Amino acid sequence: MPEARLTEYEKFHLLSFMRILFFSLKLIGAMVGLAGLFLLAVILRAHWQTDKINPLLPTLEQMQKFANQGQGPVAVYYLNSSTQMRAVTPLGHNSFILEWADGRLFVIDLGMDEEEADAFAKLLDRLGRGGPLEIKGSLAKLMGENIRDVAGVGLTHLHIDHGQGVVSFCAARGNGAKLFQTDTQAEENNFNTKEAAVLVANSCLSKGEMRKRGEIYALQGFPGLFLIEAGGHTPGSTFFFTQINSEFYIFAGDVNNSKKDLLAKKDKPFLYSKILVPENNAQLRRLRSWLVDIDQHPNTHVIISHDIEDIKAMGMMVYH
Ligand SMILES: [Zn+2]
Repeated sequence: MPEARLTEYEKFHLLSFMRILFFSLKLIGAMVGLAGLFLLAVILRAHWQTDKINPLLPTLEQMQKFANQGQGPVAVYYLNSSTQMRAVTPLGHNSFILEWADGRLFVIDLGMDEEEADAFAKLLDRLGRGGPLEIKGSLAKLMGENIRDVAGVGLTHLHIDHGQGVVSFCAARGNGAKLFQTDTQAEENNFNTKEAAVLVANSCLSKGEMRKRGEIYALQGFPGLFLIEAGGHTPGSTFFFTQINSEFYIFAGDVNNSKKDLLAKKDKPFLYSKILVPENNAQLRRLRSWLVDIDQHPNTHVIISHDIEDIKAMGMMVYH
């Protein structure tokens, strides 16, 4: 039987093929490696940025002294623009509306419009943390004509589920409302907050004036409403607090996604905190202890942005 031997010509082609294959694999490997390094650099930079933001926190007594000076808001409401029913806890996308005696309104968090809510829910579905979505409508749609009474806006942080609603808000409201944000929230952004930061910076909202005393910022034109820098969840995370009659409210954004998790001082999942949403975990732990302590006092309400069930349970009214 004749031996199966390659001709010189075949050998040459086989060698060339092997060389190209080897080179391509090396190139792909290098590209994957570079992309990985780039991603790692982006994530590490985000951690470095957020880890250096550790604002001091005032005491409850200090905050109550500020909030108790009269002429503050007379009512607090919420509006739920959508809720994603999940195996863990339902993820409500909520805005909070404070009302003063003269009819002026201040909105904390703008939520998302219908299209963005759908895209956001699909993203959570892909990450395995989703569920069926119930859309009620954008804040602008739900507020109707009354949106013209909104004189001030604040955002607990610049994630898209809290800030994208600025687009439909401005389309409905037009100019005239002021945005109250710290320099940290305006300037310190990462890959998760940049999109909303740009939307907000280029929106109809003009800059609101604030006066700082210690850790507490007073919002000009909105007596009885204050904010503090919090950090933790994002570099620019901000808490708002106020007092209505004898009730003290603190709007704590996404320090956790449910009151139950907050009371258990539960960390977010490792992958979430370290990669998807680079958080300052040390600051978050400080914030949780501080909030749990506040929550244990009588007549205090710690509001977790997404916990629609807890918001209903505390008896907050729906804005109408
Ligand atoms: Zn959120």
